[in-house]
Amino acid sequence: MLIFDAAVSATTSPQAIASTLLITLFATLIGTAATLFALHHLLSPIILTSKVLHQYLQLRKRTDLPTNFQDEVGTLMADTNRTLQQLDEIIKHLTDYDGLTGLPNRELFQTHIQQAILKSANQQFALIVLDIDSLKEINSALGRTVGDLLLRKVAQRIISYTESGDIVARFGGDEFAILRTNITDFSDSPVTLSNRLLESLSEPFSLYGRTIHCAAKIGITIYPFDGTNVAQLLQNADTAIHQAKQQNLNTYQFYSPAINAQLKRVLAIKENLRYALERQELSIHYQPRIEVATGQLVAVEALLRWQNPELGLVSPAEFIPIAEETNLIIPIGEWVLYNACLQNKRWQQEGIAPLRMSVNLSTCQFKQANLIETIDRTLQDTGLDVAYLELEITESLLVRDLEKAIALLRKLKTRGVSIALDDFGTGYSSLSYLQKLPIDTLKIDRSFVTNIASNPDDAAISKAIVALAQSLELNITAEGVETKEQFNFLRTQGCHEVQGYYFSKPLSAQMLKDFFTHYR
Ligand code: C2E
Ligand code: MG
Ligand code: MG
Repeated sequence: MLIFDAAVSATTSPQAIASTLLITLFATLIGTAATLFALHHLLSPIILTSKVLHQYLQLRKRTDLPTNFQDEVGTLMADTNRTLQQLDEIIKHLTDYDGLTGLPNRELFQTHIQQAILKSANQQFALIVLDIDSLKEINSALGRTVGDLLLRKVAQRIISYTESGDIVARFGGDEFAILRTNITDFSDSPVTLSNRLLESLSEPFSLYGRTIHCAAKIGITIYPFDGTNVAQLLQNADTAIHQAKQQNLNTYQFYSPAINAQLKRVLAIKENLRYALERQELSIHYQPRIEVATGQLVAVEALLRWQNPELGLVSPAEFIPIAEETNLIIPIGEWVLYNACLQNKRWQQEGIAPLRMSVNLSTCQFKQANLIETIDRTLQDTGLDVAYLELEITESLLVRDLEKAIALLRKLKTRGVSIALDDFGTGYSSLSYLQKLPIDTLKIDRSFVTNIASNPDDAAISKAIVALAQSLELNITAEGVETKEQFNFLRTQGCHEVQGYYFSKPLSAQMLKDFFTHYR
């Protein structure tokens, strides 16, 4: 208005008034446009923020807002980003985790199984599903609050027995599950864990001043034996739980009948082996070793036998690894050493020409600090001359600490004990250590001897072993000789001693004496 008045008073012609009005209008339009432009610039971040919020609420789709604004609007956008991110995390937690225990729920657990399958490269893993007994009864008798607290405490106990890498989940209701990857042997790690869990859950719970007992059942499936996809593995674990429930004990059950049977046998062996010595179920058989050059019986190998009332005759190939795992091989091995030496001395006293007694020594025995003393004592107690004792060791014993093994073997050798390297050719060790080893004999493994006459590869391996032994000035014994052809082949190669069913199976002490008499 001020401009208009000033303009009117300055000029009076109509053209001048019109052009003044036009200029004024033009200036007003520019001003309005500038204001609108500034307003739009100010509003656009707010419009963008509103759009993002809208998208999140409608479609649960989160887009991050730009963070390059320094003013209040910039702060608003940054806060919106952070809020939506936290909201996202909360929602994700609510959908993936169990509200009561905070453990992953069934859906998230399934994702973990799927990932384990993808990563496994056919490596085994175990799915352990655990079902709590009597939750229903506790809920109805004592109320849900008590039941809920029980579930939380159960979750804590389960977690306390897991290892890093295990995934524990609650499936809802009274079911929990554990995913354990990186298992080498299903009869070991999942069984140990299940036993610990069952034992721990059978301990009473103290809930709001009450003492409550509950038990559990466990079903186990092993990938890939019991299923190759998530649904199969879970369904079979359920079946295994049902089987466990039918047994009506605080127990676990594998899905696969074959695994169950194998496991039961291993457990029965473990349990019974503990008492095998005191119940006098062990005995020793002796397998003759014949000197090729003279055809004479020159040595015997002591081979352990176990006759158990429940399990029958158990092969040492089956129970020796278990004895090693449980360390029972230490007392059992000492027993074999003592009785084999004693028997050898007796034969000598009975007039049999002196034989070398070859005793298998397990790696655990070899690692015992008192091995030398044990051998000294045994020889002293039985009165056997050290010249008639040989120890059979395997390559596995040389893997860990070769220098220490060599030092120990030297000690044995200076005492006059002979050493044979058993099952030669089956280990993975390099041949370069052979010349360093203070040993007397190489025993070619039975697996090469079996096809010596028919398979050129096995024949070549045996020839190479004999040549190697000759160049290192070692004696060579072939085990598992079953036929005349095999014997002839080995004889022409220059083998020193042979052992196998072609001459005799392992015999009891009395039968060996008869064999000796007739063989002569
Ligand atoms: P090893 O020391 O290699 O013993 C040779 C095995 O081959 C014996 O099996 C023997 O009975 C068997 N054998 C011998 N000749 C023949 C043949 O012509 N054909 C066939 N098919 N088999 C033949 P066994 O007695 O079952 O013993 C198995 C393994 O158990 C032994 O293999 C040895 O590693 C272990 N073992 C046996 N007794 C003892 C022991 O007192 N201490 C330790 N640490 N291990 C033992
Ligand atoms: Mg042997
Ligand atoms: Mg052998």
